[in-house]
Amino acid sequence: MNALRLDSRIGNCWISFDTPTSEIRRRLARGSPIVITDKNVRRLHGRLFPKAKVIEIGQGERAKELKTVERIYRRFRDLEVDRSTFVWAVGGGIVCDVAGFAASTYLRGLPFGFVPTTLLAQVDAAIGGKNGVNLDGDKNFVGVFRQPRRVLLNFDVLRTLSGADVLCGLSEIVKCSLIRKASLFWYLERHWSALCALERAAVRTAVIESVRIKAAIVRADCGEAGERKVLNFGHTLGHAVEKTAGLPHGQAVAVGMAFAVRISLARGLLREAEARRAERILRRLLPPAEVIARPSKLLESIRKDKKRRGGHIDFVLLEGIGKAGVVKLGLRELEDAVHDLRQHC
Ligand code: NAD
Repeated sequence: MNALRLDSRIGNCWISFDTPTSEIRRRLARGSPIVITDKNVRRLHGRLFPKAKVIEIGQGERAKELKTVERIYRRFRDLEVDRSTFVWAVGGGIVCDVAGFAASTYLRGLPFGFVPTTLLAQVDAAIGGKNGVNLDGDKNFVGVFRQPRRVLLNFDVLRTLSGADVLCGLSEIVKCSLIRKASLFWYLERHWSALCALERAAVRTAVIESVRIKAAIVRADCGEAGERKVLNFGHTLGHAVEKTAGLPHGQAVAVGMAFAVRISLARGLLREAEARRAERILRRLLPPAEVIARPSKLLESIRKDKKRRGGHIDFVLLEGIGKAGVVKLGLRELEDAVHDLRQHC
């Protein structure tokens, strides 16, 4: 399979796998596009857009704020961007989220596309049309649902990733397998070393499978009214850890998934053997326990979570490997579980 079409109420998107470098260069030179990227990606992969007008943004979650978007708007105005200008984001999840939001909102919406250059962005951030920024560090508080027109995946760009960034991407791939597809989970178990070493065949299989899973969920529920919520598996605590301990997104989500596995087991939803199997793979992704922030800080952040409704929060739990469901979890139960967290991590 070399491409997949993701049609939904929030737009239609072509996702191309194995896009040759020459094809990316050709597309990013067509018309007079704007490329949004960061310094790192430009240094390593600027050959993908040698002639484009480039807007560089900063790196890390601190760049994912409204002030960066404002700066992009002003550069759009200086560059006389109009509604026919195509905007390409070339970079990781942060570049895609910020650029997608800026393009979706400038002049009430410009056409845009993504060339995701991290594993995490290829399987998650670039797929599904959620674009947005943080508000004073609170994750993704401002944003829109709007699909990119095109997503061009190229597996060669991943070769320059750090080991830590590879693990962050693997974390979201593990998430997809745990919530929807046991056979992908078995595949990850068997090919873990090949995936960590970015061996092409293994990466290709894992990325395509994950994108297919996410696309199917988004197709069914693009606005996150129901089924799409399962994609938040590991994200409630994950976002809190990301914010309070300053961990990268993928690693923080791994902490959140390990936590959700434990609650799933405690509630009798998940069998012991499956929980152990999930934990075994998640342990390869987890940071040392001491990095995780104090429970009081985590709880403060969870209370602000977008998925909170009064005294409950929509929380994703596992009913088996490959099967997730959303439950309403009382904040009290969540608080008790967070207090236990440090003893078990
Ligand atoms: P990131 O965008 O910060 O990228 C990590 C680092 O890798 C950056 O320093 C970047 O310069 C560098 N980089 C990018 N491509 C590279 C390459 N090919 N070689 C070497 N270095 C490279 O982090 P990320 O993990 O890609 O994305 C995390 C963000 O994505 C978070 O803000 C998260 O909230 C967001 N996200 C969004 C969605 C969504 O649906 N919109 C889904 C998941 C995650």
